[in-house]
Amino acid sequence: MPIRILPDNVVSAIAAGEVIERPESVVKELVENSIDASARRILISIEGGGRKLIEVTDNGMGIPIDEVPLAVERYATSKLETEQDLFHIDTLGFRGEALTSIGAVSRMELITRSEGEELGTRLAVAGGQISAPQPIGAPPGTRVVVRELFFNLPARLKFLKSEATERHRIQALIARYAIAYPHISFRLMQEGREGFYSTGSGDRREVLAACYGLETAKSLIHLPEMEETAIRVSGFISPPSVHRGTRREITFFVQGRWIQDPSLAAAVIQAYHGLLMVGRYPLAVILLQTPPDFIDVNVHPTKAEIRFKDPSLVFRTVQRAVRGVLLGQAPAAQFHFESSWRPANLPPSSAIDPGWAMAEAMQPDLPPVRAQSSLPQANMPLLRAVGQVGAAYLVAEGPDGLYLIDQHAAHERVLFERMMSDFVNGKLESQQLLGPQTVELTHREAEMIEGNLTLIRSLGFEVEPFGKNVFRLRGVPAVLSKIDPEQSLRVLVEDIGEDEAPLASEFEARIIARVCKRAAVKSGQVLSSEEQRKLIRDLEACTSPRSCPHGRPTMIHLSVDALERQFGRRG
Ligand code: ADP
Ligand code: MG
Repeated sequence: MPIRILPDNVVSAIAAGEVIERPESVVKELVENSIDASARRILISIEGGGRKLIEVTDNGMGIPIDEVPLAVERYATSKLETEQDLFHIDTLGFRGEALTSIGAVSRMELITRSEGEELGTRLAVAGGQISAPQPIGAPPGTRVVVRELFFNLPARLKFLKSEATERHRIQALIARYAIAYPHISFRLMQEGREGFYSTGSGDRREVLAACYGLETAKSLIHLPEMEETAIRVSGFISPPSVHRGTRREITFFVQGRWIQDPSLAAAVIQAYHGLLMVGRYPLAVILLQTPPDFIDVNVHPTKAEIRFKDPSLVFRTVQRAVRGVLLGQAPAAQFHFESSWRPANLPPSSAIDPGWAMAEAMQPDLPPVRAQSSLPQANMPLLRAVGQVGAAYLVAEGPDGLYLIDQHAAHERVLFERMMSDFVNGKLESQQLLGPQTVELTHREAEMIEGNLTLIRSLGFEVEPFGKNVFRLRGVPAVLSKIDPEQSLRVLVEDIGEDEAPLASEFEARIIARVCKRAAVKSGQVLSSEEQRKLIRDLEACTSPRSCPHGRPTMIHLSVDALERQFGRRG
């Protein structure tokens, strides 16, 4: 084919594709426009996961009548004038592309009334065709209605994820904006149901409760505003006891703009060094304010990535702020097996039984060392219970030395194997509650329960939907009968959405592992000699006794040989 200039409609489809990738992108652009227009209330309605309808209504400053046709032109913006302005951007938008792009790939309707004007204006764009603006009665503010997204791009439609995935993403997006803008009230309606609401009271912790649930929000540690360098850091971080299976809950805002930056997430994770288990991540909301010329936002059409002038300064500032607060609030309680056990003129660590490597497995950031790696595979030797230390570990003697057993991890393993086999045989027992109990969850948690009702019931939960995000509980799995029924249901929704579609069988195992974690004896619980012996017997009967369902070791081993070396009886 000869070289030629692309026709306008192809150019605009290509350009639109960069900005509008999926329903979530439409919502993002429209909400950003509302925020830029100083709205105090933003209502977002979604149908069909955003494919059928996305409607964003705000009470912001609106667009003056004579500027309405310009608003839907490409590269038309009220937020930027000169090239220099690009380095002092204080609005979320500035590229003047969003409305054009949305209009190019949907049937869009814009109704807006500027503050000082009597009448509003209505303008429609369908697949890039702009209609003539008409006067219309409207409240002050702006409403954009987007129907049939990608109706003219069937190929793009095919790449969209499920409606449920889009709904989750949109919900997460609105939650993020609500956190960044606590003074704005956000209401998200998904398929006619309220999916998110923030009051706009300005209280950020209140917004966090709407996002993460009351209990988690209460536990979050406030990061007081710190200004050591030119960068101001504030926000909320989780205490070491609250963690997640992914780093996705580490959120950053720079000048009120949500950004994705893996290296900043690493700064937060490093700050938790020694405080979290391998594979667990904190939850954090970090707000940064930098001098305007410290960042370059103009890196990517979706504006989700930015460049810092001095990335390592930002990294250090974030890490120091988080670490400082953590150490002040949560002194690291760790066992240092090596230093407390090893005598002063110690042999080099290579001379120590590899079983001691297990102690290090408890320290995060090192690759997880499985018990199997230093102990023979398969079952464990028969052990004689000797006693308990620190109300957390059982001491036992085996044919080849000393074993320390983590009572919580061991019990988790025992319960897990039992529950899995009962589950497979359809024999999981349920314990009736004295009276039915209602439990209120967040919208997201409720969706998760509703989507897995059959599985959840087969685990022994007698649960039924009971109004919006509310469930009625009549029975719980027998192993959970000792904990509060509401808590037992919450066990299921902890850390949900860690991955979008785990294999069905893994999903069951994961949920059962969670239940067992809650049901297992805690460390700190004193066990009678009878209980200690029983736990050791039960563990011996397990198929994989050496690790807990989450992969942590249940036991560490010190061989007679290593003992002799440690006491200097052997070279
Ligand atoms: P940008 O936000 O990058 O300027 P957009 O295409 O998103 O580009 O919007 C174009 C212009 O339309 C904006 O600069 C603004 O002046 C106006 N506009 C868009 N949405 C709104 C709104 N909700 N309220 C007021 N003005 C708006
Ligand atoms: Mg915009």
